[in-house]
Amino acid sequence: TLKTRTALVTGSTSGIGLAIARAFAAEGANIVLNGFGKPEEIEQARTAIESEFGVRALYSGADMSKPAEIGAMVRDAQECFGSLDVLVNNAGIQFVSPIEEFPTEKWEQIIAINLSSAFHAMHAAIPGMKARGWGRIINTASAHSLVASPFKSAYVAAKHGIAGLTKTAALELAPHKVTVNCISPGYVWTPLVEAQIPDTMKARNLTKEQVIEEVLLKAQPTKEFVTVDQVAALAVFLCSDAASQITGANIPMDGGWTAQ
Ligand code: NAD
Repeated sequence: TLKTRTALVTGSTSGIGLAIARAFAAEGANIVLNGFGKPEEIEQARTAIESEFGVRALYSGADMSKPAEIGAMVRDAQECFGSLDVLVNNAGIQFVSPIEEFPTEKWEQIIAINLSSAFHAMHAAIPGMKARGWGRIINTASAHSLVASPFKSAYVAAKHGIAGLTKTAALELAPHKVTVNCISPGYVWTPLVEAQIPDTMKARNLTKEQVIEEVLLKAQPTKEFVTVDQVAALAVFLCSDAASQITGANIPMDGGWTAQ
């Protein structure tokens, strides 16, 4: 149970992050939602968490490419709920292009949102976790933290980076009962995956069906997408006492992709 705990999930207005936030709320945690989207839809997701699970939910519109906004979001969470016990660095974007055509500003943006934001959030959240002697940090990495695919240079670099950051933080925090792990999903059916299909069609000159069969699920031996609820269930487990000795791990949930 996560009663009395507060969990902040970056990029939780959609997809995997929203599923993790809802799963934590179901365990009794107060929640800080973050991410972009239509204000009325975000407010609906926030109030649904409060009414369905009887917890409190705060929304922060902090931009994960802006260090000052990340620090302010963590401080707001601590002020509102008294502590920040669980941090999930999950916000992420994708861009698909050959390196020689990859726009420099896209590279910078992906490194900022998919990698540096986790550093900035940890920088702000760790002192409180250390002081209270308990914490859980979970980074949504990816199968692309372990293996590469062509045309995803910034994403693969950022995800390999987050795997290294996770190990470093785990070693620093091991004496403080704060665990730090990554979850590395294969292809999960979310707006992020759906949105990259047109660019992959263009980059590889394929139809939508070919991209799904020959590019996305080609790598995944089970030939099924991971679900957001499966990822959320692993995040809940990593917060449990049973998982207190799991730290510095990069746990794949990828239908066998990275076993190949
Ligand atoms: P999604 O597009 O559904 O959600 C991304 C979330 O990040 C949204 O809430 C969005 O508003 C938020 N976001 C984007 N830019 C932001 C910014 N600058 N500041 C704050 N929030 C921002 O995607 P998803 O598939 O749920 O992805 C979540 C994480 O899971 C990402 O880190 C992604 O790389 C990772 N992941 C996804 C898959 C997959 O197949 N979907 C696989 C492996 C890893």
